[in-house]
Amino acid sequence: MIEFKNVEKYYGDFHALKNVNLSIDAGETVVLIGPSGSGKSTLIRTINGLEEIQEGQLIVNGYDLHDPKTDINRIRKNVGMVFQHFNLYNNKSTLENIMLAPRLVLKRDEAENKKVAMELLDKVGLADKADSMPSALSGGQKQRVAIARSLAMKPKALLFDEPTSALDPEMIGDVLDVMKDIASDSDMTMLVVTHEMNFAKQVADRVIFMDAGEILEDSTTEKFFTNPDDPRAKQFLSQVE
Ligand code: ATP
Ligand code: MG
Repeated sequence: MIEFKNVEKYYGDFHALKNVNLSIDAGETVVLIGPSGSGKSTLIRTINGLEEIQEGQLIVNGYDLHDPKTDINRIRKNVGMVFQHFNLYNNKSTLENIMLAPRLVLKRDEAENKKVAMELLDKVGLADKADSMPSALSGGQKQRVAIARSLAMKPKALLFDEPTSALDPEMIGDVLDVMKDIASDSDMTMLVVTHEMNFAKQVADRVIFMDAGEILEDSTTEKFFTNPDDPRAKQFLSQVE
């Protein structure tokens, strides 16, 4: 589903991704961790073309992102992204936030669109907030709306960049529960940047550790938390657990 082959990414002279090789199969749930500034957001943002790569190949859902002929919108239809700060449209109701992209991009029939949106609101536990404006929602509720909005496009893959790190502690559990629920759908591919190690232990098939733009460890969850090969991964774990 997602394959990096010898990918290099620069911001000007700064080498942000160094010879990244990574393959994520359809249906896998992968957690990406690493210190601040290690390149986690950069890596995840390259997958739906929010950041360009300079060298290598990045194949997403069969399309090479580094090929100028690739239509990035085709990839974005199938790859949703959930951000730390939700990025909801603040002047639109919860329901409208969810219905907008399917209407504009997929031309989904209005009645069907509303039905799907209401089902998703129900799935994330917010059926009673359909007509609320984002300003009337808590952070955790906003994030659940943002997740429902991504799901409304029926993507093949979902990327999460620290989806709970802007939330008050009491809000985090509800968002993680929704994410666990999505991960249990065996068709959905998920790549999640998070500091929630219990979430990683419970739902990840694999954990990837990166530092200074390099992937230093790519192991099964079991191995990662019991016996990682990389010394920096070991040290990082001892600090966050
Ligand atoms: P955090 O845990 O703090 O979110 P991160 O692992 O997500 O960190 P990135 O945001 O990917 O790290 O940043 C990786 C490196 O690239 C950092 O050194 C950062 O300063 C640099 N960087 C990120 N975006 C840009 C940009 N637009 N221009 C220049 N440098 C950038
Ligand atoms: Mg980041």
